[in-house]
Amino acid sequence: MELACLDLEGVLVPEIWIAFSERTGIEELRATTRDIPDYNELMNQRLELLNRHGLTLPDIQQVIATLEPLKGAPDFLDWLRERFQVIILSDTFYEFSLPLMKKLKWPTLFCHRLITDSEGKIVDYKLRQKDPKRASVKAFHALNYRIIAAGDSYNDTTMLDEADVGILFHAPDNVIKEFPQFRSVQTFEKLKEVFVSSSERDIVL
Ligand SMILES: [Mg+2]
Repeated sequence: MELACLDLEGVLVPEIWIAFSERTGIEELRATTRDIPDYNELMNQRLELLNRHGLTLPDIQQVIATLEPLKGAPDFLDWLRERFQVIILSDTFYEFSLPLMKKLKWPTLFCHRLITDSEGKIVDYKLRQKDPKRASVKAFHALNYRIIAAGDSYNDTTMLDEADVGILFHAPDNVIKEFPQFRSVQTFEKLKEVFVSSSERDIVL
């Protein structure tokens, strides 16, 4: 039994915070964990910025609804779902990802939650668990699944490490250099080939 686990942002859809910052013109929302390594500090700054600009969750979802999946991503995901059970493991929030998940035809997504008040203001966030991507792969292993996983960045490397086959997709050069143990590909066509060759089943490309 095999499962395919995919990262979301940078693999199937754009980086949501960066795209959102571009659409709204709120430059400070571009900050990532590379700028502010403490994730809680980063999230608190993001929520403070959203509130300062009077952006409620419905406003944000309206902006995110104008974003599109990456070119070729919906077709790739259709292809993959015909051949594997697919689970998306992401560090995004359900409430943000909804408009994009609709465009991907609602694949299974494991991620985090935002907490809003009655006016739609985001007041807090809830991470599902610590090191969620690795923990998910471990849990699937406990269910006797073999895992082939693909992701693009640092927050994927524990998932790739825990998986039976870990693939870097669309990864920047520094990540590729730092993690030479993972196969690295840049196009959906190549990624399909690696999924086929990594499978223990006879899968047709
Ligand atoms: Mg990513």
